[in-house]
Amino acid sequence: ELTLEKYLVWMKEFAQKISDQKDYLSDLDSKIGDGDHGNNMARGLKAVSESLAAKKPTDLTTALKITAMALISKVGGAAGPLYGTAFLEMAKLSGQTTDLDQLLVAAVAGLQKRGGAQAGDKTMVDVWLPIVNKLKADQLTDEEIQEAVKSTKPMEAKKGRASYLGERSVGHLDPGAVSSGYLFETMLQAEV
Ligand code: ADP
Ligand code: MG
Ligand code: MG
Repeated sequence: ELTLEKYLVWMKEFAQKISDQKDYLSDLDSKIGDGDHGNNMARGLKAVSESLAAKKPTDLTTALKITAMALISKVGGAAGPLYGTAFLEMAKLSGQTTDLDQLLVAAVAGLQKRGGAQAGDKTMVDVWLPIVNKLKADQLTDEEIQEAVKSTKPMEAKKGRASYLGERSVGHLDPGAVSSGYLFETMLQAEV
């Protein structure tokens, strides 16, 4: 059950984690992309925090919408619209249910529809899909999140900028998978 209070704690923790790991995320992106993922995400999450603080949403749907809009307008790159879509899908469904499993199922469906990535394409989807499945089975742990993030290392990128490298993308973690790992780690910490 996702409540407004828990959601705000979650986003606060996520923004802090992204800010702390900004350089690491950009380093990862410099290996198989253009080196901006940490900066993109830090800019976006700063906007999320500021927007939530300024607009003071009194319900979950509004908070999710504010998050989506800030991510779409401020992250930029490929990741912005993808993260934004995920939160927008949660916002849309949150009028009907606040069940976290169901919200995240809708989020990952939106993410895949928008970006066209399948499992194994070496993108954030390779974290989102197994995490949502583990959550549904009540088996989500930090270890599972780490496993999902690490699973992207041996993959060859089929989507996004890293796919331009073909085989040379093998042997590196996907930066969007790592930032998504932080999203789910902080979700567990916030006891959503
Ligand atoms: P850009 O590649 O435009 O510089 P970022 O560096 O911010 O954008 O984000 C890159 C991340 O976006 C990748 O590591 C990957 O996880 C994710 N990504 C890129 N394209 C897709 C896609 N089509 N579907 C899902 N995720 C994607
Ligand atoms: Mg990049
Ligand atoms: Mg870029």
